[in-house]
Amino acid sequence: MEKWIDREENILLNTYNRMPVVVSHGEGCYLYDDSGKKYLDMFSGLAVNALGHCHPEVVEAGKNQLEKYLHISNFFYCKQGIALGEALVSRSFPGKVFYTNTGTEGVEAAVKYLYKIGKKKGKRGIVCLSGSFHGRTLGALGLTKIPSVAQDFPVIDYPVYENSREALENLEELFDKKEPVGMILEPISGSGGIEVLSREEMKRISELCEKYDVVLCMDEIQTGIGRTGKFFAYQHYGVIPDLVIFAKAVGGGSPLGGMLVHKNIDGYFKPGDHGTTFGPSPLGAALGRKVLEIIDEDFLMEVEEKGRFLQLGLENLQKKHPESLGEIRGKGLMMGVDLKIDPAKLKRNFLEEQVLINITAKNVLRLLPPLIIREKEIREFLLAFEKALSK
Ligand SMILES: *Cc1c(COP(=O)(O)O)cnc(C)c1O
Repeated sequence: MEKWIDREENILLNTYNRMPVVVSHGEGCYLYDDSGKKYLDMFSGLAVNALGHCHPEVVEAGKNQLEKYLHISNFFYCKQGIALGEALVSRSFPGKVFYTNTGTEGVEAAVKYLYKIGKKKGKRGIVCLSGSFHGRTLGALGLTKIPSVAQDFPVIDYPVYENSREALENLEELFDKKEPVGMILEPISGSGGIEVLSREEMKRISELCEKYDVVLCMDEIQTGIGRTGKFFAYQHYGVIPDLVIFAKAVGGGSPLGGMLVHKNIDGYFKPGDHGTTFGPSPLGAALGRKVLEIIDEDFLMEVEEKGRFLQLGLENLQKKHPESLGEIRGKGLMMGVDLKIDPAKLKRNFLEEQVLINITAKNVLRLLPPLIIREKEIREFLLAFEKALSK
């Protein structure tokens, strides 16, 4: 194990704080390291491995595609991408899909799309919320309002208006004065610390977007594909966005992302306006079709139930350890817990218990377990949490 860690230090740029786990393989909710140690994975590669590791049906779908082709380019028709697009539309609203490889590229596509719409309507600029994370490329980074991420990197020369998540009452004035083309938001912030927009807040935003003709874009890169107990998180709120950006879990572990544009605003891109060599990855799309097939309505109901079970367990733990744990927030299997203790120490204690967790926004425990997790494994996690707190 040590050897790999030393080798990495010599060869890879130091951009990640890794846990000392050299992965050998994964199975279901567990990752195994080189020495055969088994770890319960409570963040699923940051919400990518929704069906855990090596789901047999997903593996089968991948093998079938590997034997057909891995890349054909966008000069030809890719059946897998078409079928996945139909499946995505059937789970959301009538519209059309553009594929990318990653989440941040999905946001870039949306920015270019909004620009095109703005040119037609004589409007400019995008509104985003404080504490939001929309990606790290230089277009998306302009919309990412986490100072440690955005830093002072140069971003695109296009107006971006930040509205505080806590002061949504200012939004109407902003829309009225600045006449932005669009607004982008995460229904539940991921990297921002699992802050959940309330039903009233979302309704209000949606109404204002309608009133001021602002394109409502949901960044569902982390919240989408069943994570919160609905296929897309916006479906909790009784609103319909104009544009949805997806990625992370959609490719079944393979890099795939994109945007879904409502039919009310389609037609602003024509051939040549935007493109990418790899999107859609035929492999990612083949895996994604299987992922969407498995995450059906019954599956989503189980996600909601298991989310409630996890939340109850966390609340009981919070009552026992109010000096260590603060507020618990989230929906479905996307939960955050405010920590009043040293997060690094908690993470080490969890690792000793062979449980992998993620900390975000400095002191928020972010839980994104595989959606296939069962009550048994949630109990195992809660037990480990209790032990990790007592150390
Ligand atoms: C992960 C994430 C992104 C960026 O996706 P990448 O694939 O890392 O580029 C953007 N927005 C949200 C909400 C995310 O969670």
